[in-house]
Amino acid sequence: VLRLESVRKTYGRGTVVLRDVDLAVPPHTVTTLIGASGSGKSTLLRCANLLEEIDDGAIFLDGAEITDPRADVDAVRRRIGVVFQAYNLFPHMTVLDNITLAPRRVHGVPRAEADARARELLDRLGLGGRGGEYPDRLSGGQQQRVAIVRALAGRPRLLLLDEITAALDPELVGEVLGVVRDLKEEGMTMVIATHEMGFAREVADQVCFLDGGVVVERGTPERVFGDPQQDRTRQFLRRII
Ligand code: ATP
Ligand code: MG
Repeated sequence: VLRLESVRKTYGRGTVVLRDVDLAVPPHTVTTLIGASGSGKSTLLRCANLLEEIDDGAIFLDGAEITDPRADVDAVRRRIGVVFQAYNLFPHMTVLDNITLAPRRVHGVPRAEADARARELLDRLGLGGRGGEYPDRLSGGQQQRVAIVRALAGRPRLLLLDEITAALDPELVGEVLGVVRDLKEEGMTMVIATHEMGFAREVADQVCFLDGGVVVERGTPERVFGDPQQDRTRQFLRRII
């Protein structure tokens, strides 16, 4: 679904944040990105969604190069759902309006159809009946599930999740991770940046360890967590687990 080839990203004058990053995300698989703070996980996700321009290399979505200057950025973003750490729901809009805003305004989906799709997703994520409420009436975990519903509303090919539990109280983390597990069961293709190592291991088909903008190691969770080949991976895992 997604492929990065020798992607290089620098900020300002010469701070290299991604260095020759290669990554292939097959359909219906989950890739988790692990690595220390500042290793480039968020930058990789932002590049994949064309929120950042890359300096070199190429990114492909379903075989088409999306980093081609002629690529239709809006069309690409429509096919990629993103959820970030802070849920970024509009406080002055109901849950339902938050979810249907982009489908209605940007993609021209009729209101009734957008609402029906949103209600179906809210039901599936355990938020049935909450569509008329404002975000501040919901818990952090519920708000984050609304953000996931919003990302799913446009029926994306791919979901990018960046530290979606980092801002949550520990007792709310489980419900959000449960939703991600369910999406995996349903075959959703996802790339997930996370500091939750247990989760990164459990949910992944492929784990990618980044250090200083370099993919140091990549493989099955059994391989990367159970039998890391690189010193840097071993050091990181020793520090963190
Ligand atoms: P964390 O685990 O803390 O979320 P991360 O792995 O997501 O970290 P990134 O946010 O991708 O790391 O940052 C990678 C590097 O890029 C860091 O050194 C950071 O300081 C730098 N960086 C990120 N965004 C910018 C920016 N807009 N301008 C300049 N440097 C940036
Ligand atoms: Mg980050």
